[in-house]
Amino acid sequence: MAIERTFSMIKPDATKRNLTGAITAKLEEAGLSVVASKRVWMSLRQAEAFYAVHKERPFFGELTEFMASGPTVVQVLEGENAVAKNREVMGATNPADAAEGTIRKEFALSIGENSVHGSDAAETAAEEMAFWFAGNEIVG
Ligand code: GDP
Repeated sequence: MAIERTFSMIKPDATKRNLTGAITAKLEEAGLSVVASKRVWMSLRQAEAFYAVHKERPFFGELTEFMASGPTVVQVLEGENAVAKNREVMGATNPADAAEGTIRKEFALSIGENSVHGSDAAETAAEEMAFWFAGNEIVG
């Protein structure tokens, strides 16, 4: 199996409830290593740029305002099949649909305030890592 990198965010609903460590522990327990991490308070403009793919969606305003409402921890995770593994550990977008033991089942508040982001494919992972990190900030 291939060692990959993926991009992850611990969203403001989770940082506000002091869940950075608990969420990171779940990622590490799943075999993912944190190879870059920093805490940022993104601007509305950064949130709009990061989530530009969703700009036509009805929840775009709500999503970007939420992401700019408090601190976020942006991370790069490394491990075997990291993109798919991270999506599995995150759970479904809506916590009501998320499987037992997943981050969103355990911690998410709602479909919007759902505690974590994870890249959905290797190509988006590369773009999202480059959005937040310089190459020399990622140390495997
Ligand atoms: P993800 O890949 O599981 O994060 O889900 P999506 O790519 O479909 O959506 C991106 C993010 O937009 C989600 O993680 C939610 O924070 C937010 N989102 C998705 N659907 C809704 C919705 O119906 N209402 C609101 N407020 N936010 C949503």
